Amino acid sequence: MLHIGCHLSASRGFAAMGRQALELGANTFQFFTRNPRGSKAKDLDPADASALRDLMARHGFGPIVAHAPYIMNPCSKDDGIRRLAEKMMREDLALMEHLPGNYYNFHPGSHVGQGLEAGTHLIADMLNRVITPKQQTVVLLETMAGKGSEIGGRFKELRQIIDQVERSEKVGVCMDTCHMSDGGYDIIGNLDAVLEEFDQVVGLDRLHAVHINDSMNPPGSRKDRHARIGEGTLGTETILRFLTHPALRHLPFVLETPTDDAGHGEEITLLRQLAEKV
Ligand code: FE
Ligand code: FE
Ligand code: ZN
Repeated sequence: MLHIGCHLSASRGFAAMGRQALELGANTFQFFTRNPRGSKAKDLDPADASALRDLMARHGFGPIVAHAPYIMNPCSKDDGIRRLAEKMMREDLALMEHLPGNYYNFHPGSHVGQGLEAGTHLIADMLNRVITPKQQTVVLLETMAGKGSEIGGRFKELRQIIDQVERSEKVGVCMDTCHMSDGGYDIIGNLDAVLEEFDQVVGLDRLHAVHINDSMNPPGSRKDRHARIGEGTLGTETILRFLTHPALRHLPFVLETPTDDAGHGEEITLLRQLAEKV
């Protein structure tokens, strides 16, 4: 069973997202734990979380992905920003305990001139402080386009973080197809070779989710501008290869393409149809 969905607005609550996913033909989805550019936490209604868990079980959903806000930078030079990142992640992981067995994805951060060593050390340090032995959420590091001093543009940078985390069984990776191509990985020409490299450097057993986005920019551009499926430089073929790859097809796939809910519904329907024919 292919698990495919899109990013949804969390403003109407958990169960509402589940119902909306169903309407769009999705059986997974992603949401921001709080305003993506703000920091205020959402109030949690345990009954709402429980209603979503029921809906997901009844409808055979794959795991869902909570996305940390973009402003979170655990490897900032500014310790106020780092403390805020830690506070947000701690609160978000507490919230996710109401939806056990799902994922919490974050952008590793930008080291802003401190260098890769210092940056990965700060990220791992924060993870070592917030991850608890009993937590039921795996935290995912997203593969990034590598713009500016962004960490996570190379697989070995993710490895470097994971190597410094004590409870590394609680840490995995979420691939982003736009970011990988923009970062210079040849997923258009040779996905097998890219996955082979990922397996050697990080390990495919660490890979838990994939963001499926086309890209507005050519491979290696380090830009990070998402395009709708089939309207960018990756093309529908490249995305389909992810959805149907024997090493990937069991994973939840989430669209973060620049369109509205109805547009995502169309992309989900189209990709399901095409994936079935492969
Ligand atoms: Fe992201
Ligand atoms: Fe992404
Ligand atoms: Zn992106």
